[in-house]
Amino acid sequence: MAPKKLSQPTTPKAPGRRTFLTAMAATAAAPALRPLDVAAQTSARSDSAVHSSFDPWVEVHADNLRHNIEVISQRVKGRPIMAVIKNNAYGLGIANAGRILDPLDAVEGMAVVKLNEAVALRDAGIRKPVLLMGPFDEANLEEMVARDIMPMVYTPIGDALERVAAKLQKTIPIHVCLDTGMGRVGVPARDAAPLVRDLAGRAGVRIEGLQTTLSEDAELDPMQIERLQEVGSTLRAEGVDIGRLHAASSFGLFEHPDAFLDMVRVGMAIYGVYSEPPFRELGVLDLRPAVAMRAKVAYVKQLRRGETAGYGRAYEAENDVWIATLPIGHVDGLPRAAAQGGRLTIGGRRYPIIAAISASHTMVEIGAEGRVQIGDEVTVFDWEDGSRPEDLAAEFNGSVYDLTMHLGPLMARRMV
Ligand SMILES: *Cc1c(COP(=O)(O)O)cnc(C)c1O
Repeated sequence: MAPKKLSQPTTPKAPGRRTFLTAMAATAAAPALRPLDVAAQTSARSDSAVHSSFDPWVEVHADNLRHNIEVISQRVKGRPIMAVIKNNAYGLGIANAGRILDPLDAVEGMAVVKLNEAVALRDAGIRKPVLLMGPFDEANLEEMVARDIMPMVYTPIGDALERVAAKLQKTIPIHVCLDTGMGRVGVPARDAAPLVRDLAGRAGVRIEGLQTTLSEDAELDPMQIERLQEVGSTLRAEGVDIGRLHAASSFGLFEHPDAFLDMVRVGMAIYGVYSEPPFRELGVLDLRPAVAMRAKVAYVKQLRRGETAGYGRAYEAENDVWIATLPIGHVDGLPRAAAQGGRLTIGGRRYPIIAAISASHTMVEIGAEGRVQIGDEVTVFDWEDGSRPEDLAAEFNGSVYDLTMHLGPLMARRMV
């Protein structure tokens, strides 16, 4: 029985310019390097927050994470892996992921995009190289270097690097980012050689790698790989030490063995999730999800035929029907789009999401029989076939990146 829709769910109002400016001011006023943000704190293993047992939580499957590193390492024939653990390690919690990955030989280092996550890794005792792939202020450079956070650079920042290197009596390892066609960040490939020569010529700087991001376009990718290799071989022929060339993300792992180069830089696959549906069928990598999201059913009730549920009466019961209310909303990371076809698991059965996903609640249709009780465990996704992130994403025609990368930072993280 398809849930009947009486009106469109309301679209969220875009934040106004004023809210944006207020948010900016708050950021600007904050001290340059806050020790740990909320996400990092709640991701710590000893979670001191008090959670109700109904509240949604995240489970981190350490063995699966280690398994994924192992199979990726085999796939890339032992090349080093730069583990991308940005955005709270795709939901696992930055410190949780860092602690599991730190002792693994196959992992060369860990890459993040936000400075506070790089700092959180060091505060959590992570010893491997940490690469900051996002922008930073020159004012923070000294503290970054003091904490062994490697900057990814692509602007003429050589003088500032030299100054800090001299002051701290350290050589600063860096990766240089080349734009070979993605157009987002990175020095344009045609202008890269002079910048790299300048940086390489500085006593306080050591280039550990040249990197680029593929556009995941079948025609452009090969040209991008070629552009990176061209710059690399020109510089190597001149005797410039450029460290490792790296380009392949999870997409590259499946599609571009020619982009494995000297290192791969992988995120989603590490967490055991196939980034694109066809990759699951290829059979080249046995990935096992390392993350699950669960909660407990908050309420169960029967709607009589013709009764409605949800804002704007988004759902109407065509017959007497049982409904379960789950304490999971879009603030927890269940995307609003999941209401269009997504199903969640309770007691081994999949139940369709009805009406709309609100901030903190979601309803599922149980059917004519009241099979579900208050307190039953509900799985949004986990590592079992049928309830993997890929399964849920396919049901609402969404992307796995919408599921695991947006998990609320306030949820408890449990190691299993
Ligand atoms: C996120 C990111 C990656 C990893 O991407 P996945 O698709 O998760 O493997 C690699 N490189 C850069 C620059 C990134 O921002």
